Amino acid sequence: MADPELVDVVVIGLGVGGEEVAGRLAEAGLTVVGVERDLVGGECPYWGCVPSKMMIRAANAIAEARRVDGLAGTAEVRPDWAPVAKRIREEATDTWDDTVAVRRFTGKGGRFVRGSARLDGPGRVRVGERVFQARHGIVLGTGTRPSVPPVDGLADTPYWTNRQAIEVEELPESLLVLGGGAIGLELAQVFARFGVRVTVVEALDRVLAVEESEASEVAAAALRADGVEIHTGVRAQRVAHDGRGFTLYAAGGAEFTAERLLVVTGRRAHLDELGLDTVGVDAGRRYLTVDDRLHVTEGIWAVGDVTGEGAFTHVAMYQAGIVVADVLAHARRADAGPDPSGTAHATGGASGTTGVGGAAGAVPRADYRALPRVTFTDPEVGAVGLTEAQARERGVNVQVGLARLPSSARGWIHKAGNEGFVKLVADADQGVLIGATSVGPAGGEVLSGLAVAVHAAVPIARLRQMIYAYPTFHRAIEDALRDMS
Ligand SMILES: Cc1cc2nc3c(=O)[nH]c(=O)nc-3n(C[C@H](O)[C@H](O)[C@H](O)COP(=O)(O)OP(=O)(O)OC[C@H]3O[C@@H](n4cnc5c(N)ncnc54)[C@H](O)[C@@H]3O)c2cc1C
Repeated sequence: MADPELVDVVVIGLGVGGEEVAGRLAEAGLTVVGVERDLVGGECPYWGCVPSKMMIRAANAIAEARRVDGLAGTAEVRPDWAPVAKRIREEATDTWDDTVAVRRFTGKGGRFVRGSARLDGPGRVRVGERVFQARHGIVLGTGTRPSVPPVDGLADTPYWTNRQAIEVEELPESLLVLGGGAIGLELAQVFARFGVRVTVVEALDRVLAVEESEASEVAAAALRADGVEIHTGVRAQRVAHDGRGFTLYAAGGAEFTAERLLVVTGRRAHLDELGLDTVGVDAGRRYLTVDDRLHVTEGIWAVGDVTGEGAFTHVAMYQAGIVVADVLAHARRADAGPDPSGTAHATGGASGTTGVGGAAGAVPRADYRALPRVTFTDPEVGAVGLTEAQARERGVNVQVGLARLPSSARGWIHKAGNEGFVKLVADADQGVLIGATSVGPAGGEVLSGLAVAVHAAVPIARLRQMIYAYPTFHRAIEDALRDMS
């Protein structure tokens, strides 16, 4: 066996979170080895956020053109998938080639290793025959992969996950979507707007089940208006493929057929592949357990989807900032020698006395109270913090307010495509918002003000004194506040 190579930090998995951590630590002057077995950048730029939002941009242009009738004359729309596929191939993914991303990382001073890495005892990482000994730490940014339910027959069929749906060059005539969560609904609406006959099958009693029930209703109605068939409360029992198409057999006898089947029933971390047993960490959990500095165990941090703290790119980036600060604080302390006062760890504020760069100072702690999330259907479903049901489960003295967009000035002016609402969830005892949902043509953008209110715990009395520009969609926040009184 080769002698271990001594480095400062090894980052396993260079997705959104891992690439950010590895690049910033390298820029700060540490010797950083970044290991990636697939494409540097991870799911988001190649099979996730970026290409799916390009598809949505195109599909929404079609929907807007169809709204010309009745607003501004007539428009004839002939959807064509070719420019969408070309844009994803050429502009978003370089035909699924990460040369630019690898250069971006090595350009910051990082050392790139292509391969599958696993832990090999404290401080050690193995990639094939190579072993690295990390002086200051190891960061796990290994993300998730699609979680495919144990439906009889499914594994033997050529079903799609998000990857095949994003890479598709020619659209099928019909598509069954198994799973009515955010990814399922976004893709279902896109394909329907391009003329695919789409059916969504969801086991729970509503789509977007983690969001407010009013959001589920608006989203389902919007997709149905686009021609999507939605079946909720339907549990898939068996799947068959006959070479030309799929049949999904559901409990209760219902059958659904389509040329293609897209399985989007969630994602899961594969902890069993990481060698966690060699460092005494339980690999039997669904996600890695981390503290508020993303610490897994001595010398190991985690970042991104693998932590299970909301599978979003903005969470991975947010966590990356904390991991970078904490690893640098550890590195400075290690380089400075024992801390006689014993206070450095408690404050996270060891001063920069070594060659390790980057700003010294208190390491922020992760706080997900005001975690924003957006489902990019049309209308968009933006939400932050707790839903009404979650707040009630926690025993909060809940107060809610709701305002519908069509009856707001801007919604009425907007007319076609104006569905949506703003819903506020308040802690009546504290007098602050603890959650909010904003559904509408710009639901994700309207969310920003609500996220500030939850994040900064702005007193509701102050929100009521604010001036809301007329006639914006976000003025519905003022209406919802009034509804709460
Ligand atoms: C269709 C779709 C749409 C999405 N849209 C949005 C959106 O609009 N907004 C949003 O915020 N989020 C969105 N997401 C979620 C977002 O893509 C993820 O939250 C984000 O990619 C998580 O980043 P990550 O670094 O944790 O993991 P990943 O991006 O999954 O990267 C992990 C990397 O680790 C590598 N790896 C794993 N194990 C090893 C190993 N042992 N050795 C070496 N390498 C390894 C993998 O190959 C992968 O490249 C979407 C996801 C999907 C699927």
